[in-house]
Amino acid sequence: MKWWGWGEEQIAFTHEDKPSLRPFILRHLEVDIATPPTAPVAFSDVTVPAPVLPAGLAERLAGVVGDVHVSSDGMDRVVHARGKSLRDLVRTRGGDLGRVPDLVVRPGTEDELVGVLRAALDADAVVIAFGAGSNISGSLEAPAGERRPVLSVDMGRLDRVLSIDPVARLAEIQAGVQGPRLEAQLNAAGWTLGHFPDSFAHSTLGGWIATRSSGMQSDKYGDIAELTRGLRVVAPSGTLVVRPVPSTSTGPSVREMILGSEGRLGLISSATVQVHRLPSERTILGYLFPSWAEGLAAMRDIAASEATPSVTRISDAEETQFSFATRKQPTAVDKLQSKALMTFLERRKGYDLGAMCLAFVGYEGSERHVRAQRCKVGRIIGPRGGLCIGTGPGALYDQKKFDTPYIRDFLLDRGVLADVSETAAPWSRLPLVYDAARTAARGAFAELGVRGYVMCHLSHSYHSGACLYFTFAITPSGRRAPLDEYAVVKSAIQQAFVDAGATLSHHHAVGTEHAEWLEQDISAPGVTMLRALFDGVDPGGNLNPGKIVGADLAPDLPARDDDGVNLDGPSRRVVAEAVHTTPAQPAAAPPPEPVPEAKPAPRA
Ligand SMILES: Cc1cc2nc3c(=O)[nH]c(=O)nc-3n(C[C@H](O)[C@H](O)[C@H](O)COP(=O)(O)OP(=O)(O)OC[C@H]3O[C@@H](n4cnc5c(N)ncnc54)[C@H](O)[C@@H]3O)c2cc1C
Repeated sequence: MKWWGWGEEQIAFTHEDKPSLRPFILRHLEVDIATPPTAPVAFSDVTVPAPVLPAGLAERLAGVVGDVHVSSDGMDRVVHARGKSLRDLVRTRGGDLGRVPDLVVRPGTEDELVGVLRAALDADAVVIAFGAGSNISGSLEAPAGERRPVLSVDMGRLDRVLSIDPVARLAEIQAGVQGPRLEAQLNAAGWTLGHFPDSFAHSTLGGWIATRSSGMQSDKYGDIAELTRGLRVVAPSGTLVVRPVPSTSTGPSVREMILGSEGRLGLISSATVQVHRLPSERTILGYLFPSWAEGLAAMRDIAASEATPSVTRISDAEETQFSFATRKQPTAVDKLQSKALMTFLERRKGYDLGAMCLAFVGYEGSERHVRAQRCKVGRIIGPRGGLCIGTGPGALYDQKKFDTPYIRDFLLDRGVLADVSETAAPWSRLPLVYDAARTAARGAFAELGVRGYVMCHLSHSYHSGACLYFTFAITPSGRRAPLDEYAVVKSAIQQAFVDAGATLSHHHAVGTEHAEWLEQDISAPGVTMLRALFDGVDPGGNLNPGKIVGADLAPDLPARDDDGVNLDGPSRRVVAEAVHTTPAQPAAAPPPEPVPEAKPAPRA
């Protein structure tokens, strides 16, 4: 992973093979992307603060995980300091590194995780679980003024599928595994988790659980919250075990408490997740709609119908135009076909091409199932003016989806700040949320006097509602700090979400970026409950402090003794019981033979 941006060093977005992109960005953002880019500051010019550690801590950790798995290397520590939010990238690219962890520790077993946590608490160190560092909500950075030692616990060595129960279709998987390695292990045995976030290539199972992630095919497989059935979590009071039962009546759900906990309740060592047989057929079809309103209504009708597609996604007109602008150099035949299609849409179907919206619907399963689903969807989209444009655009989208994230760095190199804000709301509120967020973004552009662009797509449909995903970009004015101008736009959109009755985030978590809106979303008593949970489980505030509920304690709780932080002794608020392990559950007797795929997972 690049220390200053997304993905691998040798991969970069390029505009040269996309002839429409340069004029598009010039028109909307007044930036010529052909001008030479500005590179991030060189790593050799960056000052990485030396680690500050109490005597004996590094040696004790090395005794637990082995010398080679404890790192004080500057680059390693910088990579582990933050995630990949726009704010993270802008600051890091400029050489502002924040509170870099003092050590990176890489446990290889659950017992080692226990040993690491015990050593950390004994030394009153801060412990921040690190999956792959892809979060975009400020979920990883230690508080700026943190005076205690900070340990980044990189989960990457815990990367194996431990067992698959083919009867229950459950797999126990270590939490540090990244998407491609997870799928490779499952696929080799004929299974898939079906969780494909755009960050799939550089994110982990534990990170997905700790942020309540959602993947592109969530309409069929469910979000990670649904896929996760059992858990093992190394916590200050011991190893928490959540059994992988299909449902339970054991009081408030401990499983749900861990989901989205952002490392504040413990280190997730493994999870038991629902897996599915690899589908024999998988296809994504492209559709065009005459307007956002018709497209949105079609997606809602699909969610309410008996059709069970794996993907339902529609872009608004602005995002549709952006998608067309990123198309590669068309051949002469492509041009002719495209012209013929546009003429047909305008003359025969009465489309206003400027308002047209591009949608994708994905289908998975047996050939018969896919055929039947396509027919059901076809009957829904027809009356909404929709037109199927075949597999070409869908296949292209499917291939390119993991490359798209590189565009943000490309734009940053050219002075454009681009970011996302996503939310979810009931179907009845979605049009209102859509209008409110766009109006807020455009109002912010006007207030700042900057060029800006905002676009949206709907993805992740449920029976009761869906996720709206906004992408926005601004060309900073040069009159203020670029991040201050960005913050005005981001805040305006987030505020519009909660004011319109939507949530602060559907799948990007709270971290520090969205903490400001938490109380408006879940109410003051909700925040009090979360604070009580975090303070009760982790009384010393050692586990990823400051995330989700912010840094301040509730007014009626005693002040923390941070002033007299204990650099050489145990956390003053370590819970009475020592960290210990619970013996692993005996493995279930091997089931007789695989059973065929049952009904698809119901929409939540
Ligand atoms: C380009 C891009 C595209 C993205 N697309 C999507 C998308 O389509 N869908 C989506 O849901 N998200 C998306 N994200 C956001 C991000 O990938 C998710 O939040 C992801 O779940 C983070 O996983 P990670 O392993 O990188 O976790 P990290 O970023 O390393 O950590 C995230 C949080 O989880 C905690 N954590 C990590 N591992 C553990 C563990 N084992 N135990 C306890 N706590 C842990 C960390 O302490 C931190 O608080 C995207 C991000 C980028 C940059």
